[in-house]
Amino acid sequence: MTRSHVFPRHCHAALPTAVGGEGCYLIDADGKRYFDGSGGAAVSCLGHSNARVREAIKAQVDQLAFAHTGFFTSDPAEKLADLLIANAPGDLDRVYFVSGGSEAVESAIKLARQYHVENGEPQRRHLIARRQSYHGNTIGALSAGGNAWRRQQFGPLLVEMSHIAPCYEYADRPEDETPEAYGQRVANELEAEILRLGEDSVMAFIAEPVVGATLGAVPAVPGYFKRLREICDRYGVLLILDEVMCGMGRTGHLFACDGDGIAPDILCIAKGLGAGYQPIGAMLCSARIYDTIAAGTGFFQHGHTYIGHPVAAAAGLAVVSELLERDLPAQVRTRGQHLQAALEQRFGQHAHVGDIRGRGLFQGIEFVADRGTKAPFDPALGIAGKVKKAAFAEGLICYPMPGTRDGRHGDHVLLAPPFIATEAELDEMVDRLSRAVDTVILGL
Ligand code: PMP
Repeated sequence: MTRSHVFPRHCHAALPTAVGGEGCYLIDADGKRYFDGSGGAAVSCLGHSNARVREAIKAQVDQLAFAHTGFFTSDPAEKLADLLIANAPGDLDRVYFVSGGSEAVESAIKLARQYHVENGEPQRRHLIARRQSYHGNTIGALSAGGNAWRRQQFGPLLVEMSHIAPCYEYADRPEDETPEAYGQRVANELEAEILRLGEDSVMAFIAEPVVGATLGAVPAVPGYFKRLREICDRYGVLLILDEVMCGMGRTGHLFACDGDGIAPDILCIAKGLGAGYQPIGAMLCSARIYDTIAAGTGFFQHGHTYIGHPVAAAAGLAVVSELLERDLPAQVRTRGQHLQAALEQRFGQHAHVGDIRGRGLFQGIEFVADRGTKAPFDPALGIAGKVKKAAFAEGLICYPMPGTRDGRHGDHVLLAPPFIATEAELDEMVDRLSRAVDTVILGL
């Protein structure tokens, strides 16, 4: 084999070459077909060959590939923003387009800070986030994230931020506490942290409505996010929701926070917005935030060359139109129920599966050494990585996440199949995963 000059994520991995995509499947150069059970990382919500999105991209390239947003706006960006705002929760009113999730989070952090400065409260500088969360890999977003594994080598470079407990019912709720009481208790950690830092010194709180990459599709208990919203309102703290992974229909609602009955001040989306056809993310913000800056300096002190890229926006417009016109979030709800039932049936009594959780077509499976004590496997065993490898051999792509050495969470895999997957395809996915898990467990 000739030497590859591409810098792969895993330096020693000999990766197959992807050459095609058809519906829910990816195809490599040897003709092997892989069911895309995780959409890469919750990206490919429409599968790999959606005709409408492909046509929209081609038409936009033919008409106009690029015009810098310092000089022009474009039709696809305007139309996509209109469509998002028409369907967005609360009073979100403006959209700032970027190229992906980390950029959306970076933009949100800077917007929150600039809003407070222009609103006459420059002392508001603290961002509070949660442990066991992930918000991206750039320095600001990585600082906000509480994923110990991703942060460990970069500690000295990271910006200091506060991290409170996530809402992680399986691992953290004592048996004698109701889910509601547990939710209120962990949400109240936000209030305690605001008071500790200084009542008027916190600019924003950021959280994923359903925790994706770090915990594997962990939703909050009922009432948790409502309590967080109340606390933010009480102390003038902006609520930033990171729906980069769980947004755009993935949980059965166009926006995941609709499932929790709350709206943020700033909302970050990406992955499913471009559905893998183009790199695009977005930050939506409330009229109050935008108007404050418009009435002040009139200039958001931020920007990237490719913001509002017309071809990416054209792809996003076609994706969101497909989601809405075909009512795919409703389909996600019913197929999600089917998937959850199939996972329960297959893994519900499995000696090494501690928890199956998620919403819609966003499901996580947590592996344990002991179901009774919920003790995770020794991270040195690399269970999640082994399941990924065994599943790949079975022709299934699933997203692994290793457990942490502190035992705070175990190995898990995340499933985020395309919304177009049929029930038969979802059953086949569960079969392949089950064979992969058996192979790994038998090999221990
Ligand atoms: N936020 C969340 C919740 C994510 O899951 C991710 C990506 N896994 C990001 C931000 C970063 O997005 P990107 O990789 O597109 O920069």
